[in-house]
Amino acid sequence: MNLQLQFLGATGEVTGSLYALRAGHHLVLLECGLIQGGAQNEERNRDPFPFDIGDIDAVVLSHSHIDHSGRIPRLVRQGYKGPVYIQEAAAALCEIMLPDSGYLNEKEAEWENKKRRRNGQPLIDPLYTREDGERCTEQFQPISYGNPVEIVHGLTLRFHDAGHILGSSIVELRYSDGDSSRTIVFSGDLGFRDAPVMNPVTRLEKADLVFMESTYGDRLHRPIEDTIDELSEVFQSARAAQGNILIPAFTVGRTQDLLHLMAENYDRWRLDKWHIFLDSPMGIEATGVYARFRHLYDVELFGADGRIPELENFHQTRTPEESMIINEVESGAIIIAGSGMCSGGRILHHLKHNVWRPQCHLVIVGYQAQGTLGRRLVDGADTIRLWGEEYRVRIRVHTIGGLSAHADQQDLVDWYGAFRNRPPVYLVHGERRAQEPLARRLRDELGAPVKIAEYAQIVAV
Ligand SMILES: [Zn+2]
Repeated sequence: MNLQLQFLGATGEVTGSLYALRAGHHLVLLECGLIQGGAQNEERNRDPFPFDIGDIDAVVLSHSHIDHSGRIPRLVRQGYKGPVYIQEAAAALCEIMLPDSGYLNEKEAEWENKKRRRNGQPLIDPLYTREDGERCTEQFQPISYGNPVEIVHGLTLRFHDAGHILGSSIVELRYSDGDSSRTIVFSGDLGFRDAPVMNPVTRLEKADLVFMESTYGDRLHRPIEDTIDELSEVFQSARAAQGNILIPAFTVGRTQDLLHLMAENYDRWRLDKWHIFLDSPMGIEATGVYARFRHLYDVELFGADGRIPELENFHQTRTPEESMIINEVESGAIIIAGSGMCSGGRILHHLKHNVWRPQCHLVIVGYQAQGTLGRRLVDGADTIRLWGEEYRVRIRVHTIGGLSAHADQQDLVDWYGAFRNRPPVYLVHGERRAQEPLARRLRDELGAPVKIAEYAQIVAV
């Protein structure tokens, strides 16, 4: 059978997902994600694609996160005119996230060019623009879970709920050629079994080849009950101190998980004593998409009017003017704002007003990469600089580890374990130190024929 898979991204790392599937004489791209994490890595987004764009017949995206979808605008700008298959809620999220990503690229290029102009160096173009981010979504073909679609001759695509963020999918591809057929399953990003909002991960039982993410292949997350207890303590001590609580949060997923936990624990956490602000235009829009697609998860977070009935004192602040009003609040405000790693966005303004106040609390709910302000705060920095000014750090910093949107080692083992025929499995989307312990467990406990995917490696199916 003429079916081949090639790994062209997210090998030994967690960003830049890109895989090529050759089925007969067709070429299908799976994922087209942005490479993230430091200027040197991000420079690789400017490399030419390792295939001829004119040869691509179709693109399939597992979900909206930028490390899976963020090079689509560039692919389209460079001439790709075909369809992009994506789950319908994921498409709606991409319509928000890809233009925003383009906007950030424009800002970054502007900033870089200022420097280059001073040094007499040649100027650069943005990786892609806001307009590129908007235009590429016109090629989207949104499809629903479970619905089989023939995307090129003989190749049928079916999405299954991956339980990671809204619209996230496991990608099942079945190729038929004459009397024989083969099935490839790509995990996409898989959800954590204790995730507050999303449905459980779909388990499939049969495949001829599996390739799966391994982000937390070396880790077990804490149970959600521990997270609820930890947050309870933070709210209690913050109330006693009469300060504010800042929560840097990622727009899609983590923000909605937090809102759901707040609605569910409203009385226990005495949230009636607080005003809760979602101070992020992107976060507000993404939350609107969650409200629109509420049939895709089983918790009742939103009422028919799209509001959250339990959170009476919940305010969504869109404009900069509304955001600035929050700066005057000295106590009793819970402020959820981006960016999630304090590397930009409105959270910086809130830090400026609160970071030097010992009665305030900073709650870190997501991974903080090396080199970010969020990481410095977690590591106990005494001072930070914001817009050239130095600030003493006297805010109390709490790290809450249990709100991961990703499967942990146990979830990954259980998900693969559902395949009864123990197909060959390749690990992608993980660092080596996470992949090796996972590979060992899969081999030792399940007898899995497991390999760690290498860059540019081609596997015949
Ligand atoms: Zn993801």
